[in-house]
Amino acid sequence: MIYVQVELAYRFYLVLRNFFMHPTQIEIDSQQFKFNLSAIRQQIGAQVKFCLPVKANAYGHGLVGIAKLAEAYVDYFGVACLAEGALLRQQGISKAILVFGAFDEEQIAGLIESNLELTISSRYKAELVASYCQKHNQACRIHLKVDTGMNRVGIRASSFLPLLEYVLAQPSLELVGVYSHFAASDELDNDFTLQQIELFSQIVALVKAKKADVICHLANSGGVCYYPESYFDMVRPGLLSYGYFPAQIITQAPLNQIRAILSLVTRVSYFKVVAEGSGISYNHRYTTGGVSRIITLPIGYGDGYRRGLSNLGEVIVRGHKYKIAGSICMDMLMVDLGATGEAYVGDRVILIGKQGVEEILISQLALKLNSIIYEVLVGFNARIPRVII
Ligand SMILES: *Cc1c(COP(=O)(O)O)cnc(C)c1O
Repeated sequence: MIYVQVELAYRFYLVLRNFFMHPTQIEIDSQQFKFNLSAIRQQIGAQVKFCLPVKANAYGHGLVGIAKLAEAYVDYFGVACLAEGALLRQQGISKAILVFGAFDEEQIAGLIESNLELTISSRYKAELVASYCQKHNQACRIHLKVDTGMNRVGIRASSFLPLLEYVLAQPSLELVGVYSHFAASDELDNDFTLQQIELFSQIVALVKAKKADVICHLANSGGVCYYPESYFDMVRPGLLSYGYFPAQIITQAPLNQIRAILSLVTRVSYFKVVAEGSGISYNHRYTTGGVSRIITLPIGYGDGYRRGLSNLGEVIVRGHKYKIAGSICMDMLMVDLGATGEAYVGDRVILIGKQGVEEILISQLALKLNSIIYEVLVGFNARIPRVII
């Protein structure tokens, strides 16, 4: 009894310690996240189901925290692999979870044990699951994936019908969904996207003729934003849920309510004044243009704040924007405040987000890195605590 209490107190201490130990944090605006989810719900209507993709640590936002916040607002979660789905189950998430990615034969037991819904893209995988289920006297909920033009996973549309018939004939396979994925829904009025919608509509007709309650789904964020005819029975917007538009910002309600929910913040850890002409950081790739106040921040590429932002990235301190000076180190980076910029050790610093009238957008970082918002987001690693505010 006493041991259990000591153990619990120790766990509590560890959580608190983690919370306060690292001055660099990713802050998640839970209120705004709920606004985003509600706006999407309003956009798609009550009849269409909402699958929230939470793969890759919920796009870097923190898998478990995000799933717990979202569970009351969505119908489904989408993960990439068994490990992500199993973690959600261990943490008490009970909503349906669809694994988008392919699985190996060895993973079938774990997938079923965690009550995850599987994606099947071939007769071969369907047979593997069916024979596993027959052998163990179990059943499995599955979605068939059809390729309508991405040319990634998914059965060819022309081979779909035989696979559908095979699956429907297996008592151990419960066909819950049929889906496909867009290749370019982040381009407006794109003919190829319209062709994918048309081809998927034909698949839907085949499916519904045989089993009316199968959930047919196609739309990602681009589909939700720019192709309302792609909603079918369920949508799967990831990027949009976290507050970003794949292309043009939507200015009509309800999607115009959507905003980013992530801020990346830290605190000034050191301050020094250096002479004109001083080289800063490894290999002196930055030289001060005059007497300069240089601050050091406890964040680096070891946190996933990419080294490519050396001499390019910016931060906000005391309401002013300043450039990163020199090479970003593994655990630290330096910022030049010039001759007069003010900052004190312990001051809050924004690397992504807003302070006063200044704002740093993750899209600006992505542009500087020749990357995309998705990649920058998922790059922030486990050393940065995610704090829900
Ligand atoms: C990641 C993913 C999505 C979400 O894509 P967004 O562009 O973030 O909306 C939807 N469907 C599948 C199958 C995915 O893998």
